[in-house]
Amino acid sequence: MSALEIHQFPFVWDDNYGVLIHSAETGETTCIDCGDAKAYQQALDDKGWNLTHIFITHHHADHTTGVLELKEKNNATVIGPDYLGANPIKGIDQRMKDGDTFQFAGKEIQVIYTPGHTMDLICYYIPEDAVIFVGDTLFAMGCGKHFEGTPQMIWESLKKIHALPPETLIYCSHEYTQENAEFAIQIDPNNEALKARMVEIDQKRSADLPTVPFTLATELATNPFLRANDSGIRQQLGMEDAPEVDVFTEIRIKRG
Ligand SMILES: [Zn+2]
Repeated sequence: MSALEIHQFPFVWDDNYGVLIHSAETGETTCIDCGDAKAYQQALDDKGWNLTHIFITHHHADHTTGVLELKEKNNATVIGPDYLGANPIKGIDQRMKDGDTFQFAGKEIQVIYTPGHTMDLICYYIPEDAVIFVGDTLFAMGCGKHFEGTPQMIWESLKKIHALPPETLIYCSHEYTQENAEFAIQIDPNNEALKARMVEIDQKRSADLPTVPFTLATELATNPFLRANDSGIRQQLGMEDAPEVDVFTEIRIKRG
């Protein structure tokens, strides 16, 4: 099977990105989340693709507000987390837990449960295409805030992403990159890879280009939330001998 075609588009909420994933071979199309049915339908119409599936990462409104409308309009199958919290997601047909796999367009999709930001957050990983859709688990040089879980929980979740092949392409749900970079350089001021990346993202943003997606390898070199074992960061925080989870927690709390 050839690689799936991925179309990312911005929509107005909180610098959100929507994503469509399409197989030219089977004609199937899915989207990641749907905060805004109109924006997603416009993107589908622009591409001339028929929506067959919707994959939901977590319950937050900017990820789910348009799900029912888009589902009904396209008669799509909705896949989402099998974790019911205070705000259960409406319209889910198939519920997924950590380690579950399912087929989409002839590809195996692996579900990775990454709680912390919310208690229902799941990522969709496609090993054959080396791509993952992480919702608000991880951002370029940042990570999701612990709204429902704890920093320690996010740390455990990020370890699952950390373990993927470094060439994995990561799609997250927000363009928070520049503000994340400003924080990252305070924590990791002597990181030359980070400095170079900041120049690159400033160029992209001034040309109105997205900084998403990015590779895991780039994050491992520049994202302080994945670098809790880095000696420079530890020195900067005065935590040379602390456990990794404590270093991560300190960074997460400092980020606010
Ligand atoms: Zn969220």
